[in-house]
Amino acid sequence: MDSSAVRSRMVQRLRADGVVDESVLAAFGDVLRHRFVDSALATQAYEDTSLPIGLGQTISKPSVVARMLALAAASAASQARGSLGQVLEIGTGCGYQAALLARLGRHVVSIERLQPLHERARAHLADDAARTRVRLVWGDGRFGHPPQAPYDTIVAAAGGEDIPAAWLEQLADGGRLVAPVHQGPAQALVVVDRDGERYLRQRFETVLFVPLKSGVA
Ligand code: SAH
Repeated sequence: MDSSAVRSRMVQRLRADGVVDESVLAAFGDVLRHRFVDSALATQAYEDTSLPIGLGQTISKPSVVARMLALAAASAASQARGSLGQVLEIGTGCGYQAALLARLGRHVVSIERLQPLHERARAHLADDAARTRVRLVWGDGRFGHPPQAPYDTIVAAAGGEDIPAAWLEQLADGGRLVAPVHQGPAQALVVVDRDGERYLRQRFETVLFVPLKSGVA
């Protein structure tokens, strides 16, 4: 499949939708999204739609992923560094967002609780140009990953009732966390910026991510 034309159309749509960060747009232009989904879905891979990735989980639609990455990239520290720095992703899923993050950060630790998805993500990333900057971990992401903390950027792809304490502890000073968080029946995108021992929290639009669950399977 020669996907570069459809991929640049996706990037044009993201730009038209208001994504202005050039490094985020370049990452979307670079990652072969169709390689991260089932081959039966490959023809839909560049539409702005969420897609099933097995075990009841989904890959978010490109516009939502772009929104999260743009929020992460807009922090003062990310702007100053020109990079997301050391990144923690919770919810590897198929590994697509991890591949994007690897182009925007220095190093990515990505955690998935479902072992079959963790293994599939490893296979999907095997021939990705940025694979050496991604470390995939099978585990419960609610506890973060202390060995490689602190993280300049933390991005969650699953939404819980609140933000786990471990994430806040493992966020670097000046770091930014972007996560979907439940508020009653709805979920909203929440951004937390760490300034020493202060955590500044902002709430953005309503979103719909799969639930953050406990334990591994
Ligand atoms: N970023 C992914 C999106 C995957 S959907 C992609 O690009 O495909 C969110 C994922 O979060 C699911 O695979 C789900 O199994 C996982 N998840 C949910 N709770 C988790 C937890 N506590 N720890 C790690 N992963 C979790």
